[in-house]
Amino acid sequence: LTERLQGAFKKFGSRGIVTEEDLDQALREVRMAMLEADVNFRVVREFTQRVREKALGAEVLRSLTPAQQVIDIVHQELVDMLGGEAPKLATASRPPTVIMLVGLQGSGKTTSAAKLANLLKKQRLRPLLAACDIYRPAAVDQLVTLARALDVPIHEEGTSVGPAVIAQNALEKAKRMGATHLIVDTAGRLHIDEDMMNEVAELRRLLQPEEVLFVADAMAGQDAVNAAKEFHERVGTTGLILTKMDGDARGGAALSIRAVTGVPVKFIGVGEKADALEPFYPDRLASRILGMGDLLTLIEKAKETMGEEDTEAFKEKLKKGTFDLQDFIEQLRKVRKMGPLGQLVSMLPGFNRIKMQLQVDEIDDRFFAQAEAIVLSMTPWERRHPEKIDGKRRKRIARGSGTDPAQVNQLLKQFFEARKIAKTLSTGKMPLFR
Ligand code: GDP
Ligand code: MG
Repeated sequence: LTERLQGAFKKFGSRGIVTEEDLDQALREVRMAMLEADVNFRVVREFTQRVREKALGAEVLRSLTPAQQVIDIVHQELVDMLGGEAPKLATASRPPTVIMLVGLQGSGKTTSAAKLANLLKKQRLRPLLAACDIYRPAAVDQLVTLARALDVPIHEEGTSVGPAVIAQNALEKAKRMGATHLIVDTAGRLHIDEDMMNEVAELRRLLQPEEVLFVADAMAGQDAVNAAKEFHERVGTTGLILTKMDGDARGGAALSIRAVTGVPVKFIGVGEKADALEPFYPDRLASRILGMGDLLTLIEKAKETMGEEDTEAFKEKLKKGTFDLQDFIEQLRKVRKMGPLGQLVSMLPGFNRIKMQLQVDEIDDRFFAQAEAIVLSMTPWERRHPEKIDGKRRKRIARGSGTDPAQVNQLLKQFFEARKIAKTLSTGKMPLFR
């Protein structure tokens, strides 16, 4: 995907001028990229038309190549389409704020209810969960188990009374106990059906929730889009939670749902665990849809692990290009601590390009272990001045780390390349396709 875009833009990137033909060629690639990312074809068509108009109307900027400029327009247009800024949860003027989760079976409602409670609890708010999916005893148990693990209160009445009764009692209880939020898990079916719609609509009337969040499986593609439309028309939704974004899905469904319903994505689910729910940032998803790696998410994750100050310093170093091998190895260590490597590494900016250019097949644990060994065999001075490492030093480092000079050389090359790419990415807008 990225490669395809890269190719398209490279072709006219080297030339000074963009002809309409070049542009159309590039937009064809954008169209394909979006279709592959599960964006609805109608949405794609409108989108590329808008970009085309803007691109043709745009004045040439000295600071950007035409390719960059087109990509910039595409990216900006994507961000706008996704709603611009990160949306916030609505709050009731008098607590509790009621949040209903609706959607098809298996989309991630129950999991997201627990995640949301966890998120609110972390903000020192006091959520109450309500188990209104009474059609499978397992559904109530699932939420009870999750709530217990998180130490969040839950209201449940098993499966013998109707959801409306449970919901009403839960609301009473929330008020009594001074909860700030009531999070209502509802029943979903595999497909849209009348009973489900009626039930959800009734709950909405009863509870008058501030938020009705449609929970969509990012992997479900067009099905999710159709369901979202149906729910929005029949029940009225206020936002979207896009789950399973940790998978391969590029999240194009978000664009389509947004275009079809007009409601913003509020959160994304990025794993099965209770803390795997993140606020939604349009610009990040736009980058992901374009297949550009997600520097910001990485930095955010890094923040949690490293603490704020460190991260600022890290960004500053990236920008200035003073990021050295000592930093490199510290980053690698932190990155390893952060969890599933594949997930993180694929978010690194320019990762695919590094992989392509340097012919590293996999950046895996072995790669890290070797890199670490090599850097540890350097003197502190060498780590700070990697460009000064000559043949003699290389040999010594190789001996010390049980590698050979060619491997040391390769690591240095990788480091320089990574630093270059990270630098342009942290300062410029999207010079990936230069
Ligand atoms: P519900 O039927 O809508 O309540 O869906 P569940 O909350 O029971 O979730 C269905 C399955 O999807 C469960 O196995 C969850 O663990 C899984 N799931 C939910 N959200 C995510 C997510 O963001 N990432 C991953 N990997 N799995 C998820
Ligand atoms: Mg459920």
